[in-house]
Amino acid sequence: MTASRWQPVIGLELHVQLNTRSKLFCSDEVAFGGEPNTRVSEISLGYPGTLPVLNKEAVRKAVLLGLACGSNINTRFYFERKNYTYPDLPKGYQLTQSRAPVCEGGSIPVRAGDNYSKAVHLIRIQIEEDAGKSLHDVHDKYSALDFNRAGTALLEVVTRPEIYSPEEAGAVLAELRRIVRYLNISDGNMEEGSLRCDANISLRPANSSELGRRVEIKNLNSIRFLQQALTYEIGRQMELLNRGEEVAQETRLFNPASGKTFAMRTKEDLNDYRYFPEPDLPEVVLESSFIHELKSALPELPAARYQRYVSEWHLPAADAAVLVEEKEMADLLDEVVHLGHHPRTAANWIVGPVRSGLNNTGLLTADRLSSIITLVEEGKVSFSVAAQQLLPFIIRHPGYTASQAAQQLGIIQTASEDVILPLVQAVLRDYPDKVKAYKNGKKGLAGFFMGEIQKRSAQKTDPVRTREVLERLLR
Ligand code: ADP
Ligand code: MG
Repeated sequence: MTASRWQPVIGLELHVQLNTRSKLFCSDEVAFGGEPNTRVSEISLGYPGTLPVLNKEAVRKAVLLGLACGSNINTRFYFERKNYTYPDLPKGYQLTQSRAPVCEGGSIPVRAGDNYSKAVHLIRIQIEEDAGKSLHDVHDKYSALDFNRAGTALLEVVTRPEIYSPEEAGAVLAELRRIVRYLNISDGNMEEGSLRCDANISLRPANSSELGRRVEIKNLNSIRFLQQALTYEIGRQMELLNRGEEVAQETRLFNPASGKTFAMRTKEDLNDYRYFPEPDLPEVVLESSFIHELKSALPELPAARYQRYVSEWHLPAADAAVLVEEKEMADLLDEVVHLGHHPRTAANWIVGPVRSGLNNTGLLTADRLSSIITLVEEGKVSFSVAAQQLLPFIIRHPGYTASQAAQQLGIIQTASEDVILPLVQAVLRDYPDKVKAYKNGKKGLAGFFMGEIQKRSAQKTDPVRTREVLERLLR
């Protein structure tokens, strides 16, 4: 059983691209894509003599994340130059935080299966600027450079090496994505690179508490790739160790096509970055009122919300997981429940018809959804007709109230005997054999009769009254 001889140990370096309007040290607009090199001022390009000015919004967002993770916020911090040469780095250095990051400590909760079973501690959160992009597929013979991204604000979140499986690593990334979206500090969009991660992984004998020699896998941009890369790497390192060989400390890349990692550089060519404090930026000093204001404005975070849905509202874990995935959906649920509906009913509506019929929850307000639910609960419209016809109509026609829409669509159920009685009589007349069977004890046939009546009335008869009439006639 070689699998249990080694314990994988993983630490993540997660990069969050902030959704500030402008870059970290200049007023160039931040956006995804677009014509290359159109959002590049002299500052982004690092012309001599230009001076950086710190974006306050980026600091605010960094502190928000720190507060959400329970980190210590350093009220004094500064930026340093990390010097290296690379085509996508026009300045020749990156402004980052090495000795004095904005946040230290804190943790990210990990949901494994249905429960938040542990939290992974953070070493630090630092503010830094992004590089540009090299484009290798524009020309045959040479690479192109796009500096639109150069200077965009990033947060680097570094965890302690206390993640023990690819699943857990994926859960940390997923939780961070939810947190940054709840805080509205990043769109968390991994396909567009707004959230990416480097994974450090080593193996150690299962009974050891010392860390093994690690490999760093760079630039993983989806949860699936992160997990695939780690799974591959665990297998590769395990094989080496089982053969008595050593794992080389190196930086590797993941190839999604082959599902394998490959060596990019060894730690021998370790850079000396010659960090030194940026001379053109003063030390930043945060006032305690600034931090307190942010703290009091923190929203309920996804983990707390999930726990509330499961433990207080007794929602199924799978529904709670779907609901907290997007803050808009969870907000809609809370508002509809606040309007007086049962959490389970409201959740069923949102996880079911609302989610499948809507790609933008902003189009449906809580009070409009509430009035649809009320129509169903009052027996005026059947659930399935409301879900299939009324809800889509309401989303497309903001001018209609739910009951006006139901009138317009002609889907109001009736509880009137004048309508129900002839329908029930007709169905019973058409199925004399089944009526006989029912009277001989096959009571399950009531469902068949109800289905037939609902079909003929296009679900417009009130089911409770219909059932009463049906049972009376079958007596
Ligand atoms: P560096 O200065 O080389 O970037 P850090 O100490 O900042 O190294 O650690 C970077 C990341 O690597 C952190 O997430 C940390 O948890 C992780 N890490 C460090 N040592 C190991 C190890 N032996 N195995 C797995 N992960 C590790
Ligand atoms: Mg590091």
